[in-house]
Amino acid sequence: MRSYIFADTLKRALTYNGYKVRHVMNITDVGHMTSDADGGEDKVEKTARAEGRSPREVADFYTNLFLEDLRKLNVQMPDVLCRATDHIADMIALIEKILARGYAYVAQSGVYFDVEKYRGTNRVGRLSRQSLDEQYAGQRIEHAPDKKSPHDFALWVLNQPNHIMQWDSPWGRGYPGWHIECSAMAMKYLGETIDIHSGGIDHIPIHHENEIAQSESATGKPFVRYFVHHAFLVGAEGAKISKSAGQFPVLSDLQALGLHPLAFRLFCLGAKYRSELAFSLDAIRGAERNLVYLYNFASTVSDEETESDAEWVEPFEQRFHEAINNDLNTPQALAVALEMVAEAYRRNDRRIWRTLTRFDSVFGIGLEQIRAESRAPLPEEVTQLAEQRLEARRAKNYALSDALRAKLLSMGYAVEDTPEGYRIKRRWGAS
Ligand SMILES: [Zn+2]
Repeated sequence: MRSYIFADTLKRALTYNGYKVRHVMNITDVGHMTSDADGGEDKVEKTARAEGRSPREVADFYTNLFLEDLRKLNVQMPDVLCRATDHIADMIALIEKILARGYAYVAQSGVYFDVEKYRGTNRVGRLSRQSLDEQYAGQRIEHAPDKKSPHDFALWVLNQPNHIMQWDSPWGRGYPGWHIECSAMAMKYLGETIDIHSGGIDHIPIHHENEIAQSESATGKPFVRYFVHHAFLVGAEGAKISKSAGQFPVLSDLQALGLHPLAFRLFCLGAKYRSELAFSLDAIRGAERNLVYLYNFASTVSDEETESDAEWVEPFEQRFHEAINNDLNTPQALAVALEMVAEAYRRNDRRIWRTLTRFDSVFGIGLEQIRAESRAPLPEEVTQLAEQRLEARRAKNYALSDALRAKLLSMGYAVEDTPEGYRIKRRWGAS
């Protein structure tokens, strides 16, 4: 999820700067092989076989889980969410264009991009700053014997009877290569030249180089103005807490530990996107303490305090602006926000709301919502449970009273006893 939090933060930072953003995200539900260089098995089909389901069921299942996690992390939905299997015709049309311009050829095992021909354009390795030989050195490419060069990559794969998902094409039944999917969908929704393409650093040497090669060969125009690549979340500690099948934890693993999902978002923002981030439960708990600190502030800001900001806030706004626009320095921007809230407490002047919510338009931790919730009456169910608990306590039924307290806590409400009865406070996460 670090990848999507990063892309969302980039989008939010652009919006904060007054840009209109059209965001397209694709779901690779066919053609992404276990090796980036066309080798191995289709990832979706591999899972389908292992789980005894159809590829479509697998894709739907994981797409829904994925979208649910995006919602929990306050990731704004893209303007277009497109699935590779819905765009086979666009891929075929793009391959035909590349063939017509002479940058691809049809072989027995598939339609291949002709890397040697492209080499002549001197555009190879512009992104990775590597030569073709460097790009592919040391990589095991299980290449078909009828390819002209081992560097050629598949645009359309033919004669693979074991592959479950197949479509008709001018060259016979088969399925698209992974790289062509991205080019076809990106150009369909964003035009032949797109402004920003994001992705992980692992995609620099092969996947994105190939996207550039095939797209620019088809259009003769630059494909992408800016690539923005993020580094990975790493670390052995993650594997230890993972209850899921893979060796890395998923968001629900963190929630099972009582952690607020947005603590993970804040944890990611605590590192620069270009830096590797080590998975650490302690660090995520630390991020949650910051989240709760900001939520406590948000839930107690009065209407007068939201009207206009104090003058002393301005330097903070300036520093935040500089941090965000300095290659998305979110750790620094976060530090500025926390410092500003601390200063508001110190001065006992809480007129920082407009500035703080402007910061939050980039952080995406939902401060406006927290304030709105805190001003709304308590949910009926919460009041009822609290009343039942009070009765249980008065009847000295402490087992029931404790169970009701735990139930309320699991719903995010802490009950405190007072001489008059009780008081309810909002609680977020495990902190
Ligand atoms: Zn891609």
